[in-house]
Amino acid sequence: MPGTELFGAEERKEVNDVLETGILFRYNQEALRINHWKAKDFEAEVRKITGAKFAHAMSSGSTAIATALAASGIGVGDEVIVPPFTFIATIEAVLFVGALPVFAEVDETLCLSADGIKKAITPKTKGVCLVHMCGGMADMDAIMKVINDNKLILVEDAGQAFSSSYKGTYTGLFGTAGSYSFDFFKIATAGEGGVLVTNSEEIYKKADVYSDHGHNHVGEKRGMEQHPYLGFNYRIGELNAAVGVAQTRKVPGIKEKNRKHKQFLIDTLSKTPGIGFARLADPEGDSATFLNILMPDPETAKRTVAEFNAAGVGGFDYWFTNMYHFINQWDHIKEMRTVSKLAVQVLGAPQDYKTMQLPVSQNVIGRLISFGIRCTWTEQDMINLAAKISECVIKAIKPVNA
Ligand SMILES: *Cc1c(COP(=O)(O)O)cnc(C)c1O
Repeated sequence: MPGTELFGAEERKEVNDVLETGILFRYNQEALRINHWKAKDFEAEVRKITGAKFAHAMSSGSTAIATALAASGIGVGDEVIVPPFTFIATIEAVLFVGALPVFAEVDETLCLSADGIKKAITPKTKGVCLVHMCGGMADMDAIMKVINDNKLILVEDAGQAFSSSYKGTYTGLFGTAGSYSFDFFKIATAGEGGVLVTNSEEIYKKADVYSDHGHNHVGEKRGMEQHPYLGFNYRIGELNAAVGVAQTRKVPGIKEKNRKHKQFLIDTLSKTPGIGFARLADPEGDSATFLNILMPDPETAKRTVAEFNAAGVGGFDYWFTNMYHFINQWDHIKEMRTVSKLAVQVLGAPQDYKTMQLPVSQNVIGRLISFGIRCTWTEQDMINLAAKISECVIKAIKPVNA
């Protein structure tokens, strides 16, 4: 959680600008706000880092991905290919726009694979909601070929991949629209917040309108604005946006530190037999928020996790058993426990979510243990951590040979 680690004077200054005027609303009030426009500044900072032509700040990464889907024309009854390994917001967003999730295989990039997408395509497939996981990126050349060959809409949930890129293009900018999260756990935080990016003016305008009750934001009189489409309230407030401004400015520095720390750990841990790493489709584009260790098999990974717990090693995630990141624990989706009826319950699910098999994903995520990289680590911190990791892995691997 590097952003949170660096919360300080810069964030307080931006927030105090807003508190000076009391204008907590991102639109209008020109005369009172003494030229403080934090949501607009936040968007400009995100454009500066990613090179996106358009950026639109919103209340969360979840509302940003929901808006990206809607603005891309994905709605009721559309089949959308999704990964079984993501933060659950991706699946919720697809379900709540009325679309029908189709789960496909991820590979050692921890993202949907081109082959996995290809195998999940049906005549009803409208698009793919690709998720760039754990600070990395999907294998974009191969995936774009499948997207283009099959004329699919690509929407990217880059909730965990702000400032990650693939061959010079930033995640979120390969498809029609993409989203980043700035919640408490990401590379930069706004407290709560999300940003939609796109290179299409048409998609940007739809997102702008959709995320604010249809307002087209032309003119000074809010109540008299035109409403080209129906929308809802996914707005970000100025206080959150102010934090987002200061934090986003820190991202290039955070990324540089993260990458050094991750390389140090990889260099050290590579010497321990049995430790492998997730594949980066473009190592140069890694935001390095996570060190993603791949054990030889799921059983060894489970024993390693037990050794970590016994030795008091913290700061890692074993996603395979996580309630919110891996499909095995999503019994509410499998049993369709919803507070009110969703389109998928009326139209029927394209897959039997209870019985479908994703053996490649089960194997990869079963082997995966991720450590959150901290940008405030000292070299001694990393030496100590690597030593503990190695010790636990050696113990976990031993029983196999015994
Ligand atoms: C964090 C995250 C989200 C949701 O972000 P919020 O800002 O918490 O709503 C969506 N997708 C992925 C992949 C995430 O990691």
